[in-house]
Amino acid sequence: MLNIVLFGPPGAGKGTQSEKLIVHYQLIHLSTGDILRAEIAAGTELGKNAKDIMDKGLLVPDDVVIGMIENKIKSNPDAKGFIFDGFPRTVAQAEALDKMCSANGIEVHCMLALVVEDEELYKRILERGKTSGRSDDQNPELIKQRIEEYNKKTKPVADYYASQNKYYAINGMADINTVFQEITSVLSNLQKR
Ligand code: AMP
Repeated sequence: MLNIVLFGPPGAGKGTQSEKLIVHYQLIHLSTGDILRAEIAAGTELGKNAKDIMDKGLLVPDDVVIGMIENKIKSNPDAKGFIFDGFPRTVAQAEALDKMCSANGIEVHCMLALVVEDEELYKRILERGKTSGRSDDQNPELIKQRIEEYNKKTKPVADYYASQNKYYAINGMADINTVFQEITSVLSNLQKR
């Protein structure tokens, strides 16, 4: 089994690299952002509450996303592995993920952190906003708020995995295929261990 936390600020390329990883390793992609947007599209109560928070560029409460991920892990007992994309975003979420993994007899093998400069993130998100249909990708103030929220609450999650010797930094400024090559080389070294 291969369970990866794909980490990085908004616009770092997590979604793009996830698409390539799914094909290469047949993993199940769990993006809390995608699941929340699906809840919004379905008009659920959870979606309505989450939308107000997402429209402010803030993080939705830990228990909401933790519950969503737990359901997905439980409902995929035969998975070859999971890519956690955009989760965990707080240390409390990381601790909860460890707990639910051990309760389900699995573990997180590594955190792959896509490192990209803030300037580049703004550019990429604004560009994505032209086609993504996401309102949070089209408002410069909201983009700034999301990057701030990342720097304040999410960055410390990297230390959590570093303390478990599971942290791997990847140069996310490189082109898509180069980033993917760096990722597969880290993963193949890990699998040799
Ligand atoms: P993303 O698609 O990962 O950029 O997420 C879009 C928005 O969904 C974020 O700005 C947050 O408001 C919310 N969100 C997604 N994942 C999480 C998470 N793990 N914890 C809290 N909020 C999240």
